[in-house]
Amino acid sequence: MVIGKPLFTAQQIQKRIKELADEITEDYMGKELLAIGILRGAFMFFSDIVRNINTPLEIDFLIASSYVKTESTGEVKIHADLREDIKDRNVLLIEDIVDTGLTLKYIQEMLLSRSPASLKTCAFLDKKPCRKVDVKLDYVGFQIPDEYVVGYGLDYENKFRNLPYIAIFKKSI
Ligand code: 5GP
Repeated sequence: MVIGKPLFTAQQIQKRIKELADEITEDYMGKELLAIGILRGAFMFFSDIVRNINTPLEIDFLIASSYVKTESTGEVKIHADLREDIKDRNVLLIEDIVDTGLTLKYIQEMLLSRSPASLKTCAFLDKKPCRKVDVKLDYVGFQIPDEYVVGYGLDYENKFRNLPYIAIFKKSI
C-alpha cells in the first residue's frame, strides 16, 4: 500500500474551509441552521467547517456507507439515523466526497421526504469524472480527478482517517 504526496496539505485545507464557511455564513445570515454530518468520512471536515461558520447552528449526524474497499457498491446502508426532526428546518448536509453521487442522491431524497424548510449540500471533495447520477452540490471544497484518496477523515478499510492532509492511495506501486 502506498500513500502519495499530499494532494492538499493541512494548510491548503484550512484556507479553503475558511472561504467556504464565510460563504455559508453569509448565505444563512439571520437563519438558524441544522448541520448534518455524514459519518464516518466527514467527521474531520464537519468539525473544522462548523467551527468557522458564524451563524446559530445545531448539529446532527447520519452514519451511512456504500463503499467496500475502494469500490462503490451503489447500495446505501444507513447504520444510524438522525436524532433531530428536520421538518421546517434549514438543513446543511456535510459530506466528505462525492464520487458516483449515489450515496448523496439517496440521502438527499431521504431527507427531502421529511419536509425540511431547505436542504443544501456541502461536499469537501468532488470527483466529478466518476459521476453516475446528477446530484445537487451547493458548496464544494476541491475538485479532484478519478483517484482514490485517503486522509482528513477519508479511509481505506477504516485506516488513514487521522492524516491531517489528503493524499492519493494506491494498493501497490
Ligand atoms: P458515491 O456514492 O458518490 O460513489 O460515494 C460516496 C462515498 O464513497 C463517500 O462518502 C466515501 O465514503 C466513499 N468514497 C468515494 N470516493 C472515495 C475516495 O476516493 N476515497 C475514500 N476514502 N472514500 C471514497
